[in-house]
Amino acid sequence: MDLIKRLSLNKYRVDKESHIRVNLDICRTCSEKPCIKVCPAGTYERSGDVIEVHYERCLECGAALVACPFSAITFKFPEGGVSFRFG
Ligand code: SF4
Repeated sequence: MDLIKRLSLNKYRVDKESHIRVNLDICRTCSEKPCIKVCPAGTYERSGDVIEVHYERCLECGAALVACPFSAITFKFPEGGVSFRFG
């Protein structure tokens, strides 16, 4: 089963508030924006000079936290958590 099909099997409740905070002042100076490339769920998308965070897509893998060279991402686990069928 390919990754996209496996990800579609995840089920979770989405919090009303984002559990991801990003310092957009820092993002503005980041030309590579590796968070976009490493996130398997497409949580981060380019929006002009900065990024848009679709926190509801987040799988809590932490890849973007590791990939960000400027520690611009602050993350807390969402209240509802995630439950995986395949993980
Ligand atoms: S890698 Fe970090 S600084 Fe660069 S766009 Fe992503 S969150 Fe912002």
